Amino acid sequence: MPNTFDPELRRALAERIRYYNELGIYDFYRRDSVLNQSESNDPLTLTVSESTPGELMAPRRSATLSVAEETIPEVSNTYTEQTVSDPAKALKIIREDLGDCTRCVLHKQGRKQIVFGVGTPKADLMFIGEAPGADEDEQGEPFVGRAGQLLTNMIKAMGLTREQVYIANIIKCRPPNNRTPERDECETCSPFLMRQVAAIKPKVIVALGAVAAKTLLAMNSSMSQLRGHWYDFRPAGVRSNDPAWTGAKLAVTYHPAFLLRDPRQKGEAWKDLQMVMKELGLKVPEKSAQ
Ligand code: URA
Repeated sequence: MPNTFDPELRRALAERIRYYNELGIYDFYRRDSVLNQSESNDPLTLTVSESTPGELMAPRRSATLSVAEETIPEVSNTYTEQTVSDPAKALKIIREDLGDCTRCVLHKQGRKQIVFGVGTPKADLMFIGEAPGADEDEQGEPFVGRAGQLLTNMIKAMGLTREQVYIANIIKCRPPNNRTPERDECETCSPFLMRQVAAIKPKVIVALGAVAAKTLLAMNSSMSQLRGHWYDFRPAGVRSNDPAWTGAKLAVTYHPAFLLRDPRQKGEAWKDLQMVMKELGLKVPEKSAQ
């Protein structure tokens, strides 16, 4: 087996590995027959291992890009964020991977820009909403419209600022007329969110509203059933590069847009946020989040 590939072949192999990574598949092995060149001369013949996508697996030598490790080391470092320890750099790699995304129909349904996420890459607390609206689409930042102002106030009521948390959405493009995201749009987009979560490694995630909660938890329960509990959350199909991070605790609360429509529920949302504050060791003030 030659120790180098021509650049075109290297690019094709990197693309193939990246495609599998996006599907949540990280473990490959090379059949002896491929090594021996007896069955196939195609170095892109990768065999996917049987490990379950979505499981957090301890890093091991055979994991991720073992084929590339031996033959084309620059591929593994150039294309995945799991090899970098700085979460800001990891997020940059994910953003670059996303590119000017055309993976679902939303790219041709009037979106102005991709709304990736905002806040500190080292956040202990992450808020995840549904989808960008008109203001977010305009400004390229999640939760900047009316609902965003309420979320900012909720964060302030917790004794934090937007800069101290990370805010993202299940999908990164505005659906036309702010319709609810379709299931396939969530499925196409959420692997990037999962990679963001694995890069940031938050202690706590707050799912804002039913769409975020149901998508993240893969549960079809009502908001009243989902709120008031802690869930163990591991980003599906992605491994963090830090074996010490075994996932986040996830809580569910009302979406700020819902609270604008029904302000009587703000007290309930405040209860959810107090639960989160206790978990994070934040002092619970006696005022309400109205
Ligand atoms: N609603 C959301 O779910 N996300 C935003 O970014 C704005 C409004």
